[in-house]
Amino acid sequence: MKIPFNKSSLTGHEMEYMAALLRKGDLSSDGEFSQKCTALLEQKYSIHRVLLTPSCTSALEMAGMLCDLRPGDEVILPSYTFPSTANAIVRLGAIPVFVDIRPDTLNIDEDLIEVAITDRTKAIIAVHYAGVSCNMDRLVALARKYELTLLEDAAQGVNAFTDNQALGSIGALGAYSFHSTKNYGCGEGGALCVNSPALVERAEIIREKGTNRTKFLRGDIDRYSWVDIGSSYVPSEIVSAFLLAQLETIESTTQKRKTIFEFYNYHLNHLQDYGLMRLPFIPRNCRTNYHLYYLLLPTAELRTELMTYLNEMEIGATSHYVPLHTSPMGRTFGYETGDLPVTEDLSKRLLRLPIYPNLSEPEQMKIISEIKSFMLQRQVLKTQANVIVRGREL
Ligand SMILES: *Cc1c(COP(=O)(O)O)cnc(C)c1O
Repeated sequence: MKIPFNKSSLTGHEMEYMAALLRKGDLSSDGEFSQKCTALLEQKYSIHRVLLTPSCTSALEMAGMLCDLRPGDEVILPSYTFPSTANAIVRLGAIPVFVDIRPDTLNIDEDLIEVAITDRTKAIIAVHYAGVSCNMDRLVALARKYELTLLEDAAQGVNAFTDNQALGSIGALGAYSFHSTKNYGCGEGGALCVNSPALVERAEIIREKGTNRTKFLRGDIDRYSWVDIGSSYVPSEIVSAFLLAQLETIESTTQKRKTIFEFYNYHLNHLQDYGLMRLPFIPRNCRTNYHLYYLLLPTAELRTELMTYLNEMEIGATSHYVPLHTSPMGRTFGYETGDLPVTEDLSKRLLRLPIYPNLSEPEQMKIISEIKSFMLQRQVLKTQANVIVRGREL
């Protein structure tokens, strides 16, 4: 691809921090760089405790364990998400109860949650698609009313807000991703946001192989031992040195993504006005991090044709999730095609466009003009298209 779907970029101090660490020598974990990353996230987003992890997947696994899920427990989540959201609970024997999404934000439809709650329901997982918040007021109220644990898969939601609350800081636990396809990345990385103080101690133990080593390192106890089930959910300090550079430049990275996002909006808006596509929707109380830019085409056929056309033009436009409930694993829980109509429909009509800080304006212009020329070539709603040609120098 001449214009790939995603490209990671250095933001300034990555090499310097990694070199400094290598000179110092202790590469294992939770050193100076990890501590700086942690403090930065805790302060910036008012999170009680941040624990860096090797991925968002591992943070979600920890969250599942901290919910004390047992076989047969049910957890409510959207189907329109990455498999890690469901794996976190399924690996503990819990049953995923998939709920349809809202057509505007593609987030879980808060109006459909209450009917999905049973006396086996233990938790709700909010997935903030594209860095746009779920309706957290409603989810928090439902969790409180039915005494459920609210988890946030905020893999895409770092530095995004609802009203003035950071995503990941609202539920009992939140999970961030620093995978290189996300906004602020270190190759592979993540964090568990522990917002409920009562869960901190056990979270530290699970993360450190089931031992109370973290307490020992703080000097609270004079030796550590095996106290609970755990695993190794600790990233190397090499990764944290890289991550710190990315976290320190969160605002400038976000600003660059915002410029690209708004440039697409500006040039594609009239296609939306003519009903040829729908552009991303951001509720007024949400502040996004501009994680994704997507189009919703009028039909699945048109989406696939446009995707093929852009790929032929060497532009990395791509679809997104195969709904989990229609995937081979999802079907083992008894789901069938037709169960979640909005999810199934939108997933077939959605196309993601390249958005990353190093995407140049000429590259973006090329993407936009290829989209417009496709729309004309296919003579999609020919009359309207002609109006666009005359009116807007298409
Ligand atoms: C990327 C992503 C994950 C997985 O993140 P990793 O850091 O790659 O483990 C989980 N959930 C959602 C919604 C994601 O977008």
